[in-house]
Amino acid sequence: MQFVDKNYRSNSKQELIWYLKVFCFMNVSSIKTATVHSLTVGNNKKQGVKMKINAYAASEPKGKLKPFSYELGEIGSEQVDIKVSYCGICHSDLSMINNDWGMTTYPIVPGHEVVGEVVATGNAVKNVKVGDKVGLGWLSASCMSCQECMEGQHHLCSKNESTIVGRHGGFADYVRGHWSWAIPLPEAIDMSKAGPLLCGGITVFNPIILAGVKPTDTVGVIGIGGLGHMALKFLKHWGCEVIAFSSNPEKKEEILKMGATKVINSKSPEELQSIKGKLNFILNTTNVTLDWDSYLSVLAPKGKFHTVGAVLEPMAIPAFSLIMGEKSVGGSPLGSPALTKTMLDFCVRHNIYPTVEEFPMEKVNEAMEHLENGKARFRIVLKN
Ligand code: NAP
Ligand code: ZN
Repeated sequence: MQFVDKNYRSNSKQELIWYLKVFCFMNVSSIKTATVHSLTVGNNKKQGVKMKINAYAASEPKGKLKPFSYELGEIGSEQVDIKVSYCGICHSDLSMINNDWGMTTYPIVPGHEVVGEVVATGNAVKNVKVGDKVGLGWLSASCMSCQECMEGQHHLCSKNESTIVGRHGGFADYVRGHWSWAIPLPEAIDMSKAGPLLCGGITVFNPIILAGVKPTDTVGVIGIGGLGHMALKFLKHWGCEVIAFSSNPEKKEEILKMGATKVINSKSPEELQSIKGKLNFILNTTNVTLDWDSYLSVLAPKGKFHTVGAVLEPMAIPAFSLIMGEKSVGGSPLGSPALTKTMLDFCVRHNIYPTVEEFPMEKVNEAMEHLENGKARFRIVLKN
């Protein structure tokens, strides 16, 4: 038994603690290696071949991404290799490069919004086959046997493996994952825009289901970046009235075009008071400290405040702001593989896609700068 690639996997105790604190994800250790069932790269079909991967990696916090190659060992019996067509850039990639969460191992190959084609499968892979179009997001494996996995909540498995934590991700020509997280893409999907749905998309879709948001609800989204703009589009198609909270006045027209009925300055407690007690649900997608108590006052009785933004500081939530009005606060990571599939079908049915800016994979550093400077409109996608 061995890890996906023992050469670069790290299990240091400190990282593990951070890992648990931030996303409750742990390393999976139950993937057995086996002989390769088939490995098809280009037109070559080979047995037991080791793959050389060409990728982009940072070797230190805030470091630039440089060409980097590494070898993947033999494919595990339940693993698939994916040829990366496109990979979205999530703010979490930036946070991981910068080691904001204290769980980065260097060199790091970021990238966890992959869409591409299956080129190899281990001999016990289910559900996908060579040639299938699939997506791979934040998670790349689950144990498949714990209570959560057995309930179909694979994203809550305590032995999960994250695509860019202690292993290498999708800023590369190929990436590997367990078949359960290689999500089959609907035939009609637009591959050039689908990547961001695999992390950002499912991360904001899951709370809509968790909170039981109704089409008749009035809801709010804080931060109209990569995740926020997808949340806005989902909630609009869900039937809700959507209020956007943004700190950037330059985005206002585009946000209204996406379907928001109103844009409120996310940093102005005074402006927030204009909608006091009106919202049934608020989704936070920022990672900064805002005046959370003002947001709780904007909730209607029984309203729910939900964060997916990885706010770095502890969030100040006064107890009485929850008690009076039976309000609640929650958070979540991505969603299950089954819900991801459901979301992808929903997107194709309603033609919901992120608004993307495309960069060639070689221009990954320019793309990262564009995101870091708050210029992305609204999600950057790297093309191979
Ligand atoms: P992003 O594209 O950079 O968007 C974040 C948005 O937050 C910005 O566009 C901006 O929106 C707002 N913002 C940024 N700095 C701000 C400030 N100083 N004051 C007020 N608003 C500010 O990032 P993303 O990819 O959407 O990711 C958002 C967060 O979700 C990150 O923390 C990321 O790590 C996290 N994340 C969590 C999960 C999960 O599993 N829960 C999954 C994916 C990502 P405006 O310009 O509209 O103000
Ligand atoms: Zn992400």
